[in-house]
Amino acid sequence: MVERHAAEVRPAEVETEQLLLSGGRILAEPIFADRDFPPFRRAMRDGYAVRANDLTQLPVTLDVIAEVKAGAVLADLPAEVRPGQAAAIMTGAPTPEGADAVVMVEYTSQSGTRVTITRGVASGDNVVPVGSEARRSDVLLPPGKLINYSAIAVASSVGKDSLRVFRRPQVAILATGDEVVEIDKQPGSYQIRNSNSYSLAAQVQQAGGEPRILGIALDEAPHLGGLIQQGLECDLFLLAGGVSMGKYDLVEKVLEEFGAEFFFTGVQIQPGRPVVFGRACGKYFFGLPGNPVSTMVTFELFAKPMLQALAGMQAQKLVFLHARLKSEIKTKTGLKRFLPGFLSGEFERADVELARWHGSGDVASTARANCYIVVPADRERIPAGEWVAVMKK
Ligand code: AMP
Ligand code: MG
Repeated sequence: MVERHAAEVRPAEVETEQLLLSGGRILAEPIFADRDFPPFRRAMRDGYAVRANDLTQLPVTLDVIAEVKAGAVLADLPAEVRPGQAAAIMTGAPTPEGADAVVMVEYTSQSGTRVTITRGVASGDNVVPVGSEARRSDVLLPPGKLINYSAIAVASSVGKDSLRVFRRPQVAILATGDEVVEIDKQPGSYQIRNSNSYSLAAQVQQAGGEPRILGIALDEAPHLGGLIQQGLECDLFLLAGGVSMGKYDLVEKVLEEFGAEFFFTGVQIQPGRPVVFGRACGKYFFGLPGNPVSTMVTFELFAKPMLQALAGMQAQKLVFLHARLKSEIKTKTGLKRFLPGFLSGEFERADVELARWHGSGDVASTARANCYIVVPADRERIPAGEWVAVMKK
């Protein structure tokens, strides 16, 4: 559902960002190759540029007619490599005319102007042909691409020092609950500090949005309504709390007063079951359950893909890692579970085990964990040793 709506979403404005500050932004223009890549026949190794046909009988000794450094201009060099000849060459240098391969220096020994070669090559070995990576005017990166370090390498290599990027979506964040107080207040015995607005703001920032914290709504319709009106001015609106079945869970009711349509109300997961998704006044909103871990998990699963779509990012699926379970998991069937866990191991061996926690209010355990273990809804027990899906934090 989120995916279908994400496909309809069009990010708005485009702005220019300096290349060095563009990491994590979403590209709003195609990046074209300004020349062929590589622009010349590039040597991939230090060694000798040769004619592969000269190396059929080994060892063979050839005349070294030139040395070609990276950055060398071929026209300034003596001539082409003829049968019986070789040119010393460095990684990144242009391969001289006549040569069709490079023998690695490890398989050669030079004495004076002669080189003896002990290993053969096929035509084309260790030489990257002109335009084999890209042709001039090819699109190297399409709009919608997340600008990561490899995208920055591409932009640099075509000479762009600034990029057109989509404006970061503004995301309104509203905590709800009579028991919730601001973090600079001393909570009364039965009050708790507002952690959801801040964890959500961090998640929003990580996902490429600009958080706008709207404060805390009381569990009463007029106060909540006033803040909902403000929230619907942003590109995306996240509410936390007040979407369960309790008498004072008013979020859906008050959203209805704004003409909200709901695309789903509740999902078969734990934590996070009561999450709702809809649209009001032309803006998408999520009502996330208020239990802090539920808020975190439902953001990652549902709100983040929508935020990314609003940010102009190409639609993509959620990808889960897999790791081997260290000790068995026992749970109840019926809901797909996302349980805080510890991912460890190294190289190709990943292990995971459950964190000890006390349910979806347990922020401290969740903060110590580094992943969520995904337990399918039909599994009552998963034995140690089985591979399980893991969502990284
Ligand atoms: P609710 O979804 O409103 O029923 O809240 C579920 C649980 O999450 C309750 O124990 C709330 O006190 C707690 N909670 C709700 N909002 C917040 C918040 N902003 N920060 C921390 N805990 C919260
Ligand atoms: Mg509440």
